[in-house]
Amino acid sequence: MRILVWDEEKQARMWMEKAWEIAQYASCERSKCWSVVVKDWVCIWAWYNSPAKELESQRRCSADKMSYHRKVTDKTCCIHAEQRALFDALRNHPEQIEWSILYFIRLDKDWNLSRAGKPYCTICSKMALELWVAEFVLWHDEGITAYNTEEYNLLSYQYEE
Ligand SMILES: [Zn+2]
Ligand SMILES: [Zn+2]
Repeated sequence: MRILVWDEEKQARMWMEKAWEIAQYASCERSKCWSVVVKDWVCIWAWYNSPAKELESQRRCSADKMSYHRKVTDKTCCIHAEQRALFDALRNHPEQIEWSILYFIRLDKDWNLSRAGKPYCTICSKMALELWVAEFVLWHDEGITAYNTEEYNLLSYQYEE
C-alpha cells in the first residue's frame, strides 16, 4: 500500500469530494457509500449503494446479520457501491476495467466524508482482483491510501478488530 501524494492525491481528493455529493442518494439504511472506477484519470462508472435493482422487496438493511444461517455467504444488506460501479463499468466499458483504479468513500452519520477503517469486504476485494482492477483507494487518517488489489484482497481476509 502507499499513501498518495501530489497529482495522485489531488485526483483522489477530487473524487472523494464528488462522492460526498452523490453518496447522499444512497438509500441503504446502514451506510451511505459511493465508489468510482477511474481509468487514465477519467471516470468509467460510479455508483452508490442501495438494495439490489433498487427493489424495496430486496431491502435487508434492518436484518440482523447474526440471524442468517452459516451457509449464507453474504450477510451484508445492499449492493455495495463498489460492486455496482464495477458491474456497470463491465457492462458499459469492459475494455477499460483492466488496470483501472477503484475509489471508495463512506459518509458518517452526519453525512460527512468519513475515514475508512481497515479493509474487510471480501466480496468487493475479490471482485476487483478478478477483474484486474489495479488499485483500491481508501481514505485513512494517515492519508489517502492506494492498495494493489492482490494486497487488498489478502488484507481483507486477514481483517481483525
Ligand atoms: Zn442496506
Ligand atoms: Zn463491498
